[in-house]
Amino acid sequence: MLMYEIIKKTKNKIKLNNEEIVFLVNNYTKGLIPDYQVSAWLMAVCLNSLTVDETTELTLAMRDTGYKMKFDFIDGVTVDKHSTGGVGDKTSLIIGPIVASCGVCVPKMSGKGLGHTGGTIDKLESIPGFKTELEFEDFKNILLKNKFSIISQSNDMVLADKKMYALRDVTATVDSIPLICSSIMSKKLAMGADCILLDVKMGSGAFMKNLEDAKVLAETMVKIGENAEKKCRAIITNMDFPLGKNIGNSLEVIECIEILKGNIKGELFDLSLEISTHMLNLSGKGSLLECREMAENSIKNGSALKCLEETIRLQGGDVNIINDYKLLPEASQKHEVYSLYNGFISKIDSEQIGLIALELGAGRKTKEDKIDYSAGIVLNKSIGDEVKKGELLATLHSSVMNDFDILSKRMQNIILIGKDSVYPKKIILDTI
Ligand code: URA
Repeated sequence: MLMYEIIKKTKNKIKLNNEEIVFLVNNYTKGLIPDYQVSAWLMAVCLNSLTVDETTELTLAMRDTGYKMKFDFIDGVTVDKHSTGGVGDKTSLIIGPIVASCGVCVPKMSGKGLGHTGGTIDKLESIPGFKTELEFEDFKNILLKNKFSIISQSNDMVLADKKMYALRDVTATVDSIPLICSSIMSKKLAMGADCILLDVKMGSGAFMKNLEDAKVLAETMVKIGENAEKKCRAIITNMDFPLGKNIGNSLEVIECIEILKGNIKGELFDLSLEISTHMLNLSGKGSLLECREMAENSIKNGSALKCLEETIRLQGGDVNIINDYKLLPEASQKHEVYSLYNGFISKIDSEQIGLIALELGAGRKTKEDKIDYSAGIVLNKSIGDEVKKGELLATLHSSVMNDFDILSKRMQNIILIGKDSVYPKKIILDTI
């Protein structure tokens, strides 16, 4: 078989067969096909796409290039969730404890953040002592004891994605629906949970900028999951505004704890309940209505918060942070940003907010960068809120920055204020 022929077929929109896809994935992973040929093929995929069948075969071939987890030691089903990434998206730390406290095991593997969106692992590592690199035996014991654990991505799983993603990153071939689907789903399938809930983000801070593309992405991932005999569902959610009020690692941990204490409502709470409801429903815990009630009760009766506390303890973290946020990294500098106008908040660009958080030190521009866990933004206003000239819009937090002037002006420019009140945008846009 020749890689040259495979590139030519995709270039001419001729369907690849299973053997060709397995040949490409396995031989590239082993270093037997050079980067320049795979780059050419990736670009052909970007321009001509792949069928759902080809994308499924690509996903399964990628899944099989490394270690695959099995949870047969768990009595009952396991459920996983994936979000395609967004600014202020911290739902994993909320939904994991909710679903686990309702009796369904949630084994999660997450990544570190790169660029303007944060990573769940970075948020957890802001908790003093919290370990995210665990041996499988320790992960297993935590799941057996508490039904919820999060570990960082293993180097031994889905080797093909590691090589291909690095190549896509430097050849402008990231934004292709079949390539995104196969990359995400190969990792989810290797993770091995029985049920998978996908949160596909749509909007300014997301890969998918419009609803049509987000639907195709969601439908393709669900189909791949079903073809691999998983129970799979997707919701499409709005990323035109940041999720919640806090952006930045320790700030986001605080917001999650406040949600689990029942102290905050709003779009982050609504989305967390929606995701938990679908995860419980997929896992066979009852109708959507029953599952929503179960999820709500786990917050009201404190069992979800207890579950998070226990996971923090089992993974070596300081549980006192639950009641004393001063034990989390706190920024040495805080700068308040005030409104220049009277009116109503009409837009808060999530991508721009993510980029400002990155400048403050909350994220990494390159994989080697060190994070300032205390850095970030606390938004004081949401879309639709009335604001007066001189009123507080947001507070910038950083331990590495002294001069906030430029970022403060950028904040004033991206929090748009109109004359008329607008309806806050819907958070859940569709279910697939
Ligand atoms: N996240 C992934 O894991 N892969 C992609 O291709 C895009 C987002």
